[in-house]
Amino acid sequence: MMPLVAIVGRPNVGKSTLFNRIFGHRRAIVEDVPGVTRDRNYAEVTRYEKPFTLVDTGGFEPDSKESLLQQMRQQSQLAIEEADLIIFLMDGREGLTPSDMEVAELLRRQPKPVLYVVNKVDGEKQEEASLEFYSLGVEELLTVSAEHGRGISTLMEAVLELLPSGSGRAEVDEVTRIAVIGRPNVGKSSLVNRLLGFERVVANPQSGTTRDSIDTLFVYNRKPYLLIDTAGIRRKGRVSQKLEKFSVVHALKAIDRADVVLMVIDAVEGVTEQDLNVAGYAHEKGRAVILVVNKWDAIEKDNQTLGRYVEEVRMGFKFMSYAPIQFVSALTGQRVARIMDEVCKVSEQFSRRVSTSELNKVLEAAVAAHQPPIFRGKRLKIFYMTQVSTKPPSFIVFVSKSQGIHFSYERYLLNKIREHFGFEGTPIRLFFRDNK
Ligand code: GDP
Ligand code: GDP
Repeated sequence: MMPLVAIVGRPNVGKSTLFNRIFGHRRAIVEDVPGVTRDRNYAEVTRYEKPFTLVDTGGFEPDSKESLLQQMRQQSQLAIEEADLIIFLMDGREGLTPSDMEVAELLRRQPKPVLYVVNKVDGEKQEEASLEFYSLGVEELLTVSAEHGRGISTLMEAVLELLPSGSGRAEVDEVTRIAVIGRPNVGKSSLVNRLLGFERVVANPQSGTTRDSIDTLFVYNRKPYLLIDTAGIRRKGRVSQKLEKFSVVHALKAIDRADVVLMVIDAVEGVTEQDLNVAGYAHEKGRAVILVVNKWDAIEKDNQTLGRYVEEVRMGFKFMSYAPIQFVSALTGQRVARIMDEVCKVSEQFSRRVSTSELNKVLEAAVAAHQPPIFRGKRLKIFYMTQVSTKPPSFIVFVSKSQGIHFSYERYLLNKIREHFGFEGTPIRLFFRDNK
């Protein structure tokens, strides 16, 4: 797993400027809808001798009900939990502020290494002024100018020295991307908040709160995940039909970027046409999907309710019989914790590679049990198969005449593979090629 470096600090101290400086490019800010910017707040930095993931923990909401200091505490807490190294950035032009002191105190009382860095030290004059930051009681203080590149190489030396040397492990764990998808008001934001363990996004009972979609990097069981939250595509005012459409467009874009899709369904309203359309898109794109039935608390239950519900959901989503179903309540938190365990399982399957020899044993047995069809008077011959890719697991089967394979035989082979290898929650793909 790549070590994680988090930049923490008040708004406007220069976090994103420093982020861009270390990353080496300007971050792409994609303008999906006028007034809505999607700001990627993490990047994989590979241009130094140790690769690491850089996170700008930004994400302050100026009109949040929480004070700046509270938000800073949460931000720092998040960094403390997730990061291997924290860069605490302060503003040398503005000077030391009470909230800097408070956060520094918090950082001192925890075990993760911290670099205390004063930004906007553009020249000698500011260098002198920055001395007041020593009153924080820190041993070492670094001064930089993120904008002009001053002090950056010294900072990077310190970063690389403090990073755990995870380079012994050749395999770099990739971030698993999770998209939370569903119609407005199904409880996406509430679910995201539950998953992240604290109120990172403001959920509001009235619709029409201004929110941007937010990508949040977090760690679960020592593995990095990126949560793509599509909830925020709402403006002040009513949720109009047009906005419903926007939310679909955003859902599709989020699915494009995701590995695992959490398809959230409102238990009270049941499965809707729009849910099926969006899920169909995820299926066609070959994404892993978990069906999350939310607001389970709001359903009056007897001992048949669950069974009936499973049936209804399965009927609707019959094209993705592989997708696990979870019944949760974002409101009470009931069973929400299981979602991440399911995500772990499903994403493992999604990126699973099976051995060619075992694959061909399964193929041989399947063909022996159920012969391939006859095509133009001749029985088709199946030679062998191999896995060509993951995410989703995809296989090529070499056949004497691939055009002779019916859908039903394809489904038969798919089921055999799924059964044998226990692929769960992930679509798998089979391609047939002529053996030449
Ligand atoms: P963030 O809110 O912490 O991400 O801060 P930004 O990176 O957006 O920077 C806030 C402002 O400070 C911008 O106007 C930057 O141009 C400015 N700034 C950032 N770094 C420096 C620096 O090294 N020197 C000076 N003079 N200004 C800087
Ligand atoms: P989003 O539009 O999908 O992000 O939905 P929100 O998270 O904003 O939730 C919409 C409304 O449903 C809010 O009033 C929530 O309090 C409510 N809600 C969310 N999850 C649950 C749940 O599990 N049970 C119940 N009863 N209400 C919920």
